[in-house]
Amino acid sequence: MSRTIVRTALVVATYGRRLGLRLDDGSAGAGRIKGKTIQPVCGDKVEVQPIANEPDWLITKILPRVNQLTRPNQRGKIEVLAANLDAIVIVVADSPVPDWFIVDRYICAGELMGATSAVVFNKADLGQIEESSANALAGYARIGYVTLRCSAMQGRNLEPLLDFLAARTAIIVGQSGVGKSSIINKLTGYAARSVAPLSVVSGEGRHTTVNSVLLSLTNEGAVIDSPGVRDYAPAIDRPTDVAHGFREILKSSRLCKFSNCRHLKEPACNVKADVAAGKIDERRYESYRRLLFAAERLAERFR
Ligand code: GDP
Ligand code: ZN
Repeated sequence: MSRTIVRTALVVATYGRRLGLRLDDGSAGAGRIKGKTIQPVCGDKVEVQPIANEPDWLITKILPRVNQLTRPNQRGKIEVLAANLDAIVIVVADSPVPDWFIVDRYICAGELMGATSAVVFNKADLGQIEESSANALAGYARIGYVTLRCSAMQGRNLEPLLDFLAARTAIIVGQSGVGKSSIINKLTGYAARSVAPLSVVSGEGRHTTVNSVLLSLTNEGAVIDSPGVRDYAPAIDRPTDVAHGFREILKSSRLCKFSNCRHLKEPACNVKADVAAGKIDERRYESYRRLLFAAERLAERFR
């Protein structure tokens, strides 16, 4: 009688149908998905079985996710970018010109999934930081997010980021060109990089492009690099959830007259009062409004 060997593994790279795995004993492997029923992403814990006469593992099951970072793709379908995240590291710089609305949307998604965010201002070597960027960073710090300034190019002030990542699994996101790859290269160094199966040879013997990769750090932390994640908007289908993505708005809303206040035109709205008084940042409030309208449109479609 043959017994099926079932083991668990962490998904550390995705290349379409083929995945890079770290097995429960720490060894590296490659996995294939059984049928088209499941779609593991970086950060997933999966169950695997050996395949007779093949080095690959068969991925049979995704273990329950603690959370997942999702977004609607071009066809309106929900796409999962990564799973089981403790944190989102959002990188910005003065070049390319920052879009703080994108930062707000990532932070909002993080709040809703239970992941903390850090805003990392890179390219600090480029001279004086723009006043608008300094103000935005100070705003995030005021409402309780970790903010850091560093230079990946000069390798300066990356230790606080490394400390932030200790014992956490984080996805690194931000506009194209802000320096995500440069930061990851500096953080992981070559020793850590070499353990990641960055170039798994596909069945046809060709090296396939990596969609997403999880890199382990020496301090028990890990960063997920998911290229191509430029713009971002979370798919929120319950309008009342949106305020939960903006912690200062949520806090202020406890003093609104109506418990179902949308903080738009309702009377005795404490959020509007706080915006008028400069206690809540106007851009943050505008981010809230835009996401609220998007969520209401989405909810409308499913009614
Ligand atoms: P990504 O698209 O976010 O992964 O960005 P890259 O890491 O590819 O970097 C984009 C460009 O910015 C490259 O030309 C890098 O050399 C440059 N860059 C990255 N980090 C820094 C930095 O700290 N300072 C400066 N001046 N340039 C940087
Ligand atoms: Zn209100």
